[in-house]
Amino acid sequence: MFATARLADFAPDAVSNYTRLRNYDLGSGAHNHVSRLSPYLRMKILDEADVSRAVLAQNDARSADKFLAEVWWRTYWKGWMEQRPAVWAQYRADLTRLHNAVQTQSGLRQKWEAACLGDTGIAPFDHWANELVETGYLHNHARMWFASIWIFTLKLPWQLGADFFLRHLLDGDAAVNTLSWRWVAGIQTQGKTYLADPSNIEKFTDGRFTDVRGLATRADPLDAPPLPERQPVPAIAPYSGAPDARVGLLLHSDDLGAPFLAKMKITPVSTAYLSTEAAQSPWNMAAKVTAFRRDLARDIAPMAHFTDTPEGVIDWARDNALDQIITPYAPVGTTPAALAHLRGSDSAPLTQIRRDIDTAAWPHATAGFFKFRKHIPDLLDRFAR
Ligand SMILES: Cc1cc2nc3c(=O)[nH]c(=O)nc-3n(C[C@H](O)[C@H](O)[C@H](O)COP(=O)(O)OP(=O)(O)OC[C@H]3O[C@@H](n4cnc5c(N)ncnc54)[C@H](O)[C@@H]3O)c2cc1C
Repeated sequence: MFATARLADFAPDAVSNYTRLRNYDLGSGAHNHVSRLSPYLRMKILDEADVSRAVLAQNDARSADKFLAEVWWRTYWKGWMEQRPAVWAQYRADLTRLHNAVQTQSGLRQKWEAACLGDTGIAPFDHWANELVETGYLHNHARMWFASIWIFTLKLPWQLGADFFLRHLLDGDAAVNTLSWRWVAGIQTQGKTYLADPSNIEKFTDGRFTDVRGLATRADPLDAPPLPERQPVPAIAPYSGAPDARVGLLLHSDDLGAPFLAKMKITPVSTAYLSTEAAQSPWNMAAKVTAFRRDLARDIAPMAHFTDTPEGVIDWARDNALDQIITPYAPVGTTPAALAHLRGSDSAPLTQIRRDIDTAAWPHATAGFFKFRKHIPDLLDRFAR
């Protein structure tokens, strides 16, 4: 499978080339100095422990520090959002309002369409819009420049940019994407914005874009409501199925792995895959993204029943006479609402099972990344050795 092959291929490079060259966006087809593992981490085909373990098998922790920190940034964002789900709810509400505004305000619609179609006249920005739509991937530096130009030069609402990313990125993730856009806009790390700078673009695209003109020269933080109170990472009830129960496994758009099955000695009588992408945006998801995730699900569980509605899961549970459904924990995003719908039905009871690594790491995402980072050595000792 591509994910494990790519990890094996990349692990030896994770130190020298990554540390030196990770900030260079050399263009589509040349992103070799970064791992390109994010679509697989996003779907939990691999988790942070798998990647850290493979890297630490070939490099010492000190020299792999830069790469490992990036890998655990994702965990940090996930844990941060689990403790402030209202931030996602607010983004969703803003998006509904902006969807309406795009339909009714022709000035906004024209600007938004030009940005999404790569037709703004800003050469690197237009290039990245096209690269994203064509490939489903953008280099991290390009994501930062793109988001900055979207917000501070084009003066488009950040939520519409986050939505454009979420519809087209193969790794589009509710927590990582929303919080990264908020970070660029200066509302995540309060007051700290990211300004795209022409000389920085020229240097780190290796001269592909020179003499970029017309970019904003200042980036004042946007206004935003105060952060909601932090709440604990949700507790989940332990699985307590009868030994002879007919258990079904429900995989979904936020987790395609079920590493807990072996430990719990459960062999499901049937497996289903619930796709919840359609609820991510008021606009259509890129077909490439849904197809990519479905293909991954087919690789993992070729015999699975595929559905994109909770009703489809209810039918599957009934047809297989299930006593119980177990499912990987659904983090903040679109899957929890679909699971809540199931719970509200008279379908077989549903138990979510969270990975130990997430249960251990997420509560540490209380404040900034640097506080979280202090826990990484312990997490590595516990999960990646
Ligand atoms: C505006 C914006 C939006 C983003 N949206 C997403 C998104 O929807 N989904 C997503 O997975 N990443 C997102 N990122 C983070 C980052 O750009 C990608 O994770 C990274 O570029 C993926 O490429 P890679 O696997 O080659 O990364 P590598 O550099 O090889 O890093 C290895 C892994 O570390 C993690 N990682 C790396 N950089 C970051 C980061 N800045 N934040 C969190 N985790 C990171 C990823 O899981 C990645 O696969 C966004 C960043 C920005 C600035």
